[in-house]
Amino acid sequence: MKTISIDTPWTSSLPHPWIIAGPCSAETPEQLRTTASALVAQGITTLRAGIWKPRTRPGSFSGVGVPALQWIQELKQELEAKWAIEVAHPEHVEAALKAGIDILWIGARSTVNPFTVQEIADSLKGVDVPVLVKNPINPDLSLWMGALERLSGVGITQLGAIHRGFSAFQTGPYRNLPAWHLPIELKRRLPELPLLCDPSHIGGDRSLIFPVSQKAMDLNYDGLMIETHPAPDAAWSDAKQQVTPARFQEIIEGLRVPSPSSNQQDYVNHLETLRDQIDHTDRDILEALARRMDLVKEVGEYKRENNVAILQMDRWEEVFRTRPEWARLLNLDADFIRDLYNLVHQASIKQQEAVVNQTPSPDAT
Ligand code: PEP
Ligand code: MN
Repeated sequence: MKTISIDTPWTSSLPHPWIIAGPCSAETPEQLRTTASALVAQGITTLRAGIWKPRTRPGSFSGVGVPALQWIQELKQELEAKWAIEVAHPEHVEAALKAGIDILWIGARSTVNPFTVQEIADSLKGVDVPVLVKNPINPDLSLWMGALERLSGVGITQLGAIHRGFSAFQTGPYRNLPAWHLPIELKRRLPELPLLCDPSHIGGDRSLIFPVSQKAMDLNYDGLMIETHPAPDAAWSDAKQQVTPARFQEIIEGLRVPSPSSNQQDYVNHLETLRDQIDHTDRDILEALARRMDLVKEVGEYKRENNVAILQMDRWEEVFRTRPEWARLLNLDADFIRDLYNLVHQASIKQQEAVVNQTPSPDAT
């Protein structure tokens, strides 16, 4: 496993939260100018626009390409903001750098492909530019880490990650499943890496942008990437998930942004007391689990003596039905308890199998 070093002067220069906003795709010079100027007037300092669009099905709008780079160059003269675009190919990198694009990002469909990521990384050798890596479309943390390692390997130190959710056959209310535990694990492994959330691609619907953004803030993300468009319903790509700059402003102003931590003495003391109580409670839980396992072992021995099968379906069904019911009375989430008892049941079966298959030692008569 390669180590990844992140440029600290760069990360500490970023605003908190770092908000990147702009259209899914650059469509026309007017559309780009209207969006960009409204956002900059709100104090947004990093803008996004898709120039080359990776579309799932052929025949849909796939980006205006190189001419949009010139629109951005012109807007850079007028507006005080940095620009971020997606690159999926060394030729994109070359054109973007030539046009003075400030930040590059690697899209979800490129992060899945180590060949593509390596080609992009090789084209960035010796270049000092921030690169943000979106999660791969499938929920595979190694691929995400691998892409960051490939970029780190060519000397990129201004690195960041964007959580845009994961493809799944069934996604529920989301276009892409958030699977929050994956970006959290990425952050645990790389605490210095700026982690942004892209609620537009997770939600796939503008009504989900606020709740997903708030969740990201509560989870201490470093920033957000949000798609904005002057006339979202008429957008040439991702129409359902874009918001007007005015709605974007309401969303940002409505967010509660907790501070990453606090050194305030009262806070530190009280937190310590609560954590102490949690430690005691966890010991109680573990002792109760150990008692349960001892009983399970006794049941296993008893079944063996009577030559009865380990798995008794009616008993398991009863446990699986009653525990979530008991949990509900205690205001515990029934799904959580169902998941927990699935694990408890697997461990119990394993314990009983160990008892049943244990061959008595020759001198244990
Ligand atoms: C985008 O940001 O417009 C985009 C195509 O994103 P993703 O790579 O997350 O699908
Ligand atoms: Mn998009």
